[in-house]
Amino acid sequence: MSDTAKNYVNGEWVESETGETIDVQNPANPSETVATYQKSDGSDAKEAVEAAVAAKAEWANTPGPERGRILREAGTLLGQRKEELTDKLVAEEGKARGEASGEVQRAIDIFHYFSAKASDLGGTVKGASGQNTNLYTREMPVGVAALVTPWNYPIAIPAWKLAPALAAGNAVVLKPASLAPGVVIEIARALDEAGLPDGVLNVVTGPGSAVGSEFIENEGTDAVSFTGSSQVGEMVYEQATDAGKRVQTELGGKNPTVVMDSADPAEAADIVANGGFGTTGQSCTACSRAIVHEDVYDEFVDELVDRAESIDIGPGNEHEMGPQVSEDELNSTLEYVDIAQDEGATLAAGGGVPEGDDVEEGYFVEPAVFTDVTNDMRIAQEEVFGPVVAVIKVSDFEEGLDVANDVEYGLSASVVTDDHTEANRFVEEAEAGVVKVNDKTTGLELHVPFGGVKRSSSETWREQGDAGLDFYTIEKTVYDSY
Ligand code: NAP
Ligand code: MG
Repeated sequence: MSDTAKNYVNGEWVESETGETIDVQNPANPSETVATYQKSDGSDAKEAVEAAVAAKAEWANTPGPERGRILREAGTLLGQRKEELTDKLVAEEGKARGEASGEVQRAIDIFHYFSAKASDLGGTVKGASGQNTNLYTREMPVGVAALVTPWNYPIAIPAWKLAPALAAGNAVVLKPASLAPGVVIEIARALDEAGLPDGVLNVVTGPGSAVGSEFIENEGTDAVSFTGSSQVGEMVYEQATDAGKRVQTELGGKNPTVVMDSADPAEAADIVANGGFGTTGQSCTACSRAIVHEDVYDEFVDELVDRAESIDIGPGNEHEMGPQVSEDELNSTLEYVDIAQDEGATLAAGGGVPEGDDVEEGYFVEPAVFTDVTNDMRIAQEEVFGPVVAVIKVSDFEEGLDVANDVEYGLSASVVTDDHTEANRFVEEAEAGVVKVNDKTTGLELHVPFGGVKRSSSETWREQGDAGLDFYTIEKTVYDSY
């Protein structure tokens, strides 16, 4: 029997009014129920917002250093529970243990980073035009922040929204993804034990359409931060702006790595394989298109196929690549494998369901490499949220750049080249919020801004680093004459 977790509302662990629950299965072994969560609805969400509204003034008036102390303590508690959190993350989301443990560490680091930032908030002083006037700004919290998060980084993404929201003095309502909510429940437990006042954080599990919608539309919330698919995110953006909220959405990607003729094909294949197959291809920044110069194309393809075929697939605790998170996600990847072949692409590696005792039951897929891809194919245009890389041949840098930019998404992009001019032109002209030279498209540092352009983002506010605080802060300008 697994545990039944409760919602965290107004400092209490409570059951949903629906009386219904959601089971979370282990994607490596779906007959195992990992945990059970509340299947809440709009009325549970309303109560959570009421608690946040009631708590926001006291939290806003709590000195920044004291808010920071609570965040620091919560980060330390999460650090003490790192193994347990990693177990939960592997069991619910499926990723490989090293990836899961790195993600948990990232969440801990984020709490510590923003705990220090909480002391630095205040504002700036400027010289006034007249005498006897103090002219300055004060950084104020926005009020109540509504956070809606995806399953693929189920602890890092909630942490990178929640920590700056709390540091800046906001109360929060948070709806984690239904496929992997366990680690967010653990964040709430750590903050509760660290002394966060009742009602400042409220976590409600349940379907996005019920709980998420209520958070977004309820007049008690002031800002909405959403990360997830473009399809849902674009709806959320409209709903939130119609309701007059401050909103940021970070969405899907179709991220390219351009490999130029000066690149070492083996190194380029390492970069693409890491970016494309890491986290089972389930990163918003995953490389899904390798755009390769014709002079190194054949060698690059051989190297990439080698890497795809040598990946050790199985349950995340013991293997290099875990399963996809759910049957739906697996089926969606397998469907794209069929679509790509129907469109005329060549399946050069993987793309099937692996066989063996370890992988019998789970949602495993072999990392796939497609060649003979043209950029108009669906496999080159649509986000495939699995370990699938489409290789596209180009004859020069101009064509590579054009192909890289010829998609509706713009999250992350990289180039592999020894040519300084190409590198700099790519940095300048690639249509992406994150650009990398001689590096994979995935992997982010926590102290610099993150966000996409085009259909990957609302382009309203960046997340992470100093920029991450801006979304949760309003500047008030004070003219104080005496
Ligand atoms: P999703 O299906 O869009 O869900 C994201 C969140 O929205 C979940 O909590 C979901 O709840 C909720 N939701 C669903 N319908 C809703 C509605 N009508 N109103 C309000 N909330 C709703 O995305 P996902 O499958 O979890 O995550 C994968 C996607 O996220 C990929 O497209 C990936 O590229 C993107 N992503 C982007 C970034 C980035 O920073 N750009 C980072 C990571 C992931 P339920 O879980 O209950 O359905
Ligand atoms: Mg989804």
